[in-house]
Amino acid sequence: MRLLIMGPPGSGKGTQAVQLAGRFGIPAISTGDIFRANAAEGTALGRRARRYMDAGDYVPDHVTNAMVRARLEDPDCVHGFLLDGYPRTLRQVAALDEALTEPGTALDCAIELVVDQDVLVDRLLRRAQSQGRADDTAQVIRRRQEVYDQQTAPLTNHYAERGILHRIDGDGQVARVAARIAESLAGVPVKVSS
Ligand code: ADP
Repeated sequence: MRLLIMGPPGSGKGTQAVQLAGRFGIPAISTGDIFRANAAEGTALGRRARRYMDAGDYVPDHVTNAMVRARLEDPDCVHGFLLDGYPRTLRQVAALDEALTEPGTALDCAIELVVDQDVLVDRLLRRAQSQGRADDTAQVIRRRQEVYDQQTAPLTNHYAERGILHRIDGDGQVARVAARIAESLAGVPVKVSS
């Protein structure tokens, strides 16, 4: 199964991604997590990404694309993967398509979590208190939402046109949202990859 999950900051995509990937026995690849881990370790990639993340802006496409491309070549991705937070720009969509041109490697589905704006802000401010993520301040949250609405939300059309978009109501408890996703994916034919 080759999936991706999209959704605005605070939509719960990271939480759902980990659960779903566990169910399918595939790796969950979160670009945000990879950037944060690199920033914490102080690698060159992390130092580069940090200033964009702290401002709520996207890390430049060529940096993100190269990182994802390398990750998808790891052996654990051979039978599938779940991308969490990628692609977020048109250039990333194109780069992903290019990385998946081998027969049998096309995406099976794209999940979009839809959540009301007020609920999102509320969740993120609560997460700020419990997890203390550097980019969960009111000002940076607003910027991340703006960037998502402008650059990423329109990309869902691309996957809708291909007939692989699953729009899921992301409001409510984690288990309820997970059940909605599972129900929606039940009808997806899974390609057998070698
Ligand atoms: P959220 O969706 O809540 O903003 P993430 O953990 O997915 O949280 O991403 C955190 C930050 O990491 C983003 O604001 C951005 O700076 C960077 N980032 C993550 N994924 C990408 C991507 N695909 N392209 C560019 N930047 C990204």
